Amino acid sequence: MTAPARPADPLISIVVPVLNEAEAVPVFLAALTDALPAARLEIVFVDDGSTDATPAVLEAALAADPRCVVVTLSRNFGKEAALTAGLAAATGDVVVPMDVDLQDPPAVIPLLLAKWREGYDVAYGLREDRGTDSFLKRQSALWFYRIFNKTSDLPIPENTGDFRLMDRRVVDALNLLPERVRFMKGLFAWVGFRAVPVPYARAPRRAGRTKFNARRLWRLALDGFTCFSSMPLRIWSYVGAAVAGAAIVYAAVIVAKTLLLGRDVPGYASLMTVVLLLGGIQLITLGVIGEYLGRLFVEVKGRPVYVVDTVRRGVPAEGDGVPRP
Ligand code: UDP
Ligand code: MG
Repeated sequence: MTAPARPADPLISIVVPVLNEAEAVPVFLAALTDALPAARLEIVFVDDGSTDATPAVLEAALAADPRCVVVTLSRNFGKEAALTAGLAAATGDVVVPMDVDLQDPPAVIPLLLAKWREGYDVAYGLREDRGTDSFLKRQSALWFYRIFNKTSDLPIPENTGDFRLMDRRVVDALNLLPERVRFMKGLFAWVGFRAVPVPYARAPRRAGRTKFNARRLWRLALDGFTCFSSMPLRIWSYVGAAVAGAAIVYAAVIVAKTLLLGRDVPGYASLMTVVLLLGGIQLITLGVIGEYLGRLFVEVKGRPVYVVDTVRRGVPAEGDGVPRP
């Protein structure tokens, strides 16, 4: 592979969405500096409408660390939107989205960077050991990837989160995507470029609490399915055809029976079963159409993905050599 010319000492943008993470931010900054003592860093925190002490903690980080950038959103827009805002604000030669809870270990970044130096545009973290995730989370993730990759036109690598290192060109491509419902894992795959997996063990959350409950994960999974596949819409034509086919055969059987054996009173139970079954199928179909229609509505309205309140950059101390755009 011929590697394109790349800066020897790239500016690395770390993009970190945070929601009520006052405890985790200082731990994260310390761990990041430990893992990458010599790197040129830009750390873009996106405050996704925190209601705890996070704004004050970020303020302190800005004052103490010229590498910090804080993008404050006007309210909570969700992790995918916060990530989108962070990617738009990042100015580095390479960009690494990370969770602030240190579940994505900073020590993996040098490995990702090595792949980039080899000429890859994307090096994505592959969660090899999910031992720290709960059984339920692992099972639901397993099934999500299975079903997604069966139905979607575009497979996404299994056990891969947002943690990855992307070349500037990849980030520019992502920033151009206009959609409102942003399923980042899918969009990362959609833009393409040369990608390589880098296995790592997912660490337990270091401080604070998870923001994703079962309901939010379910919403995220639905976003994923509906944004990357129209299969749930199309499948009902086939179900309908199968039911109609069965009905024709059954009608023939009834006619034949009536001709041969005479008229009899058909069972109430079988009638009820058929009516309820078909009613159920029709309601499911309507629900699926509703899912897509709802998303279509969101896209058509064309509201922005997020609203930025303020963007603040750390003030460099005289001659610290940190370049500012
Ligand atoms: N997060 C966010 N907005 C939200 C929910 C989460 O910015 O609405 C951030 C959160 O602060 C963290 C990251 O997204 O940095 C991942 O969240 P979390 O660790 O709670 O998710 P989990 O690892 O449990 O899936
Ligand atoms: Mg986490």
